[in-house]
Amino acid sequence: MEDCIFCKIADGKIPAAKIYEDGKIISFLDIMPANKGHCLIVPKKHAQTLTEMGDEDLAALIKAAKKVASALSLSFGNGSFNIVMNNGKEAGQIVNHAHIHIIPRFQKDRLRLKWSHLKYEGDEIKEYAEKIRKFI
Ligand code: 5GP
Ligand code: ZN
Repeated sequence: MEDCIFCKIADGKIPAAKIYEDGKIISFLDIMPANKGHCLIVPKKHAQTLTEMGDEDLAALIKAAKKVASALSLSFGNGSFNIVMNNGKEAGQIVNHAHIHIIPRFQKDRLRLKWSHLKYEGDEIKEYAEKIRKFI
């Protein structure tokens, strides 16, 4: 993907504060962090979202996420972190190359990831489950 910023970082065409790399994955610091130390885990092969990724790349992605999260915790973190993956415009994805965010959390940091809760009416919860199950 010629115009993809994360493909360019994976190819070494533009610089990044790299943390980890293997045959399938690259990880580097987010340039505009939610907290300092905020890391991105990125498959080298371009895919727009999680559902477009191959299973082997996905397995490598989550393994690399664990590795980086452990390193974050051991370096300056405290073992608390959020994993976030924005998939699609409505979910807030800005860079259209699949990636996982790992954000270290600190006491009294200003990051807010809580949402307000809705309620299902009557059998609606069963209907939603049934609709989704049909496509599994
Ligand atoms: P998204 O909303 O797509 O999940 O998040 C994309 C993230 O990529 C943002 O947090 C943004 O700060 C980060 N980002 C965008 N461009 C660059 C870049 O050129 N270098 C790095 N290191 N991070 C970037
Ligand atoms: Zn890309």
